Amino acid sequence: TFTLAIVGRPNVGKSTLFNRLVGKKLALVDDQPGVTRDLREGEGRIADLRFTVIDSAGLEEATDDSLQGRMRRLTERAVEMADVCLFMIDARTGVLPADEVFADILRKKNAHVILAANKGEGKAADASILEAYALGLGEPIRMSAEHGEGMGELLDMLRPIAEAQAEQAAADAPEVDVDVGDDDEDAARVPTKSKPLQIAVVGRPNAGKSTLINQIIGEERLLTGPEAGITRDAISVQQDWGGVPMRIFDTAGMRKKAKVQEKIEKLSVSDGLRAVKFAEVVVVLLDVEIPFEQQDLRIADLAEREGRAVVVAVNKWDIEGDKQVKLKKLREDFERLLPQLRGAPLVTVSAKTGKGLDRLQQAIMRAHEVWNRRVTTAHLNRWLTGMLEQHPPPAPGGKRIRMRYMTQVKTRPPAFVVMTSHPDMMPDSYKRYLVNGLRADFDMPGTPIRLFLRDQG
Ligand code: GDP
Repeated sequence: TFTLAIVGRPNVGKSTLFNRLVGKKLALVDDQPGVTRDLREGEGRIADLRFTVIDSAGLEEATDDSLQGRMRRLTERAVEMADVCLFMIDARTGVLPADEVFADILRKKNAHVILAANKGEGKAADASILEAYALGLGEPIRMSAEHGEGMGELLDMLRPIAEAQAEQAAADAPEVDVDVGDDDEDAARVPTKSKPLQIAVVGRPNAGKSTLINQIIGEERLLTGPEAGITRDAISVQQDWGGVPMRIFDTAGMRKKAKVQEKIEKLSVSDGLRAVKFAEVVVVLLDVEIPFEQQDLRIADLAEREGRAVVVAVNKWDIEGDKQVKLKKLREDFERLLPQLRGAPLVTVSAKTGKGLDRLQQAIMRAHEVWNRRVTTAHLNRWLTGMLEQHPPPAPGGKRIRMRYMTQVKTRPPAFVVMTSHPDMMPDSYKRYLVNGLRADFDMPGTPIRLFLRDQG
């Protein structure tokens, strides 16, 4: 489950919300003396959703001069512990300078923020709601912790986070890591200190996968592994590349060397599939003489659908005569044949000579970084406002589609949720407009981007 931290200046109503979420089962998990004493933690619940709540309200008793500093440290710690922060302001007082201090902390910490204007019952709160919007932390929920108002809205905001977490947990569940020979021993000797970046090299037989991997590991290790590939499903080697630990998966190449030639042709796609499942970044290796064959397109599409970061590498560049013309043609073909991979890097290499491999390494690193990227909710909502102004969503049958709020619910690959009215009426073209905008404005090439719409009246 995820952890929600309730933060904000004293007296906005954090404890009231904490008590409401935790109910009678209030548990003081941490009663150790010292710095963490002020963070209360309990098991929170709204409807069927369960999560951990952290409250920084304990501090409100403190009245000494150091209040500001302690409050800041405490909030920072709560933010670090949490998956999502509920930042509470008081709708009766509006946004005060003290609130700005907390907003700043949240921005600096890149926190995933849900903004709540508490004590929001009645018309008097309307002005504060607008003020709160100006904090740039997204659209505020109007709530009354005391009277239980706004809990449904909060639930709607939290549910995608819970879902994303469950999904992530499933994706992160340890898979059987099938390995050859001495790599197993390496892994046993060095318990996963920094997890190697997992890449798969996929492509048609003879594209040069084995040659590429051999070039990277700089030896014939791949060819000479014991029982290479005969009984194993996925083969990997671990190797530092450009100073970065990587685990490289290859399949068909191994089988070939193991002389099960007849199997290669029919196995290469399902083999590729398996390698893709293991990978964080998929390198689609094309043969410059026959690029973008049906099989290449299928595996590239598969990698995208599996949510992997993709780098396209065109091999055997050493034998290409007219490099400039060819490159232009390759880029055009790429755009046309793999529109779903728009923006993914295309790198030319020679596995044989090693030329271009440093650029390939950098493209892989960058794709991996983007795949892991998190965009703050504040940024997203400022961006969304601009996008809506530039090109408002359609009004089918006179019904206006109102998009209220947007947040990134997960990474690897980046996934976003837009809270909107009438999600079912949103045309795909408008979703594409948003996805392409995200890709361009937040500089996210080479990674699939998922966009989900959630109904919010
Ligand atoms: P795999 O089936 O994808 O593993 O392909 P291999 O690595 O076995 O390579 C297939 C053939 O292409 C071999 O004859 C390689 O020598 C050749 N080859 C691989 N990379 C290059 C390259 O960069 N340039 C040239 N000219 N030939 C290459």
